[in-house]
Amino acid sequence: MSYWNRPVDDLIDAIKKENLWRAYIITEPKSGEVMASHPVIQSVADAVAADTRDYRGHEGCFFEIGRESDHLLSAHVHWTMRGQAAGGVRYWSYDQVEDFVRDGLRLSRGMGQKNALAGLWWGGGKGVVARRKGLDHRDSEVRRAVYLDYGRFMTGLCGCYVTAEDAGTMPDDMVVLFSKTRHTTCIPQTLGGSGNPSVLTATGVVVAMEAALEHLGRGSLEGKTVVMQGLGNVSLYMVKELVERKVAKIVGADINQTMIDRVKQMFPDAPLDARLVPAGDVTIFGEAGDVFAPNAVGAILNPQTIPMLNTPIVCGAANNQLEDPDRDDDALFARDILYVPDFLANRMGIVNCANEQYGSIERDPAIYAHLERETPTGIYRRCMEVFARASSSGRTPADEASDLADELSQELHPVWGNRGQQIIDDLVGGGWAENEPIR
Ligand code: NAD
Repeated sequence: MSYWNRPVDDLIDAIKKENLWRAYIITEPKSGEVMASHPVIQSVADAVAADTRDYRGHEGCFFEIGRESDHLLSAHVHWTMRGQAAGGVRYWSYDQVEDFVRDGLRLSRGMGQKNALAGLWWGGGKGVVARRKGLDHRDSEVRRAVYLDYGRFMTGLCGCYVTAEDAGTMPDDMVVLFSKTRHTTCIPQTLGGSGNPSVLTATGVVVAMEAALEHLGRGSLEGKTVVMQGLGNVSLYMVKELVERKVAKIVGADINQTMIDRVKQMFPDAPLDARLVPAGDVTIFGEAGDVFAPNAVGAILNPQTIPMLNTPIVCGAANNQLEDPDRDDDALFARDILYVPDFLANRMGIVNCANEQYGSIERDPAIYAHLERETPTGIYRRCMEVFARASSSGRTPADEASDLADELSQELHPVWGNRGQQIIDDLVGGGWAENEPIR
């Protein structure tokens, strides 16, 4: 039986029926062959091996059934030449195993690309936990069990993947997770972590907007109009940055009145036209302006919304803005819209937390350097490098950024080499998948 198109719960039941708790799919480093730990996961391994969109030679995908939560936990490791895999853990609903695994494959590669372009010595990783049907994922006891299990899972993986916060995971969850493992970042400041990254993410995206405007010969942000989808945490601080840069107008839409009230209260003098819209409303895409900033959710640029766009630049904070990366990138290019790939513009979230173990400094120069125009690996210079490559090759900035990121992802960590792969080899050799989860 193939589990690829079956519900996640079916895979959980099948693994348990074999008296197992763990399974993995790895790419054998020498042969490049995709291997499954057990026959029960073979159909998923076969589907991964046959995929050419999201599977890109990932070093490993690890699965564990949480003892306390009975959830399917996963960790996806793309490449670890630059360092251990790093990226957040997503707690989300998935209809079938394919969606669950694809999200892990796609997002772990995306994190690797973001880390490499940012010059961080980290590889690409992502955690994905499937919400259990019939359980309230907001219930504090359910969440506590999930994140205790996820922390134990991280400890069992010995650091080939180092987790962090992501969609569906809250700061309080990170406290629970941190109680069971050291292989995490994004822990609260009260426990020595880095805290809320939204302020820096907003500044980073604004720096990318400036690079895009300059590349098109349109000058600075002064006097410009910025259109935003979403008025949440990143947009809140983006409004502040844009006001400081003397924009003429900001048009924003959100589905939540509380968010609109908050931004209006905090910045009463901002030239902000903020609108409440019903979920699914796309009128904001047609607003005229200089930059459109997708700051809400992913997959919003698609055949319906791209023809509506009325700005020469798209540059925002949301991850995976293109519903279909190839189709929608081409459509933006055909419309002569400069699309700044999210993994180029929104790096400050991971920059803020990735190196927590090196301690913290007020206005940390290691972090703020990413926002400086002079820094070769900073956001501004990286954007300019990618735009220049795209202009001379006639390809899209997303294609150029992706190739550059893949090149950089293969640089070996100067001290630890390909440590992540060594850890995976050791886990596999040590019978990780036969062992019971850590209690
Ligand atoms: P957030 O949840 O605080 O804000 C998102 C806002 O979008 C919310 O106010 C929500 O009501 C609104 N929204 C959702 N769907 C909408 C729709 N269809 N139309 C209009 N508004 C809608 O999230 P955030 O922290 O501001 O992050 C924004 C995006 O950037 C997210 O996709 C996030 O994954 C990404 N991101 C954030 C960071 C960070 O540091 N916070 C870093 C990297 C990427």
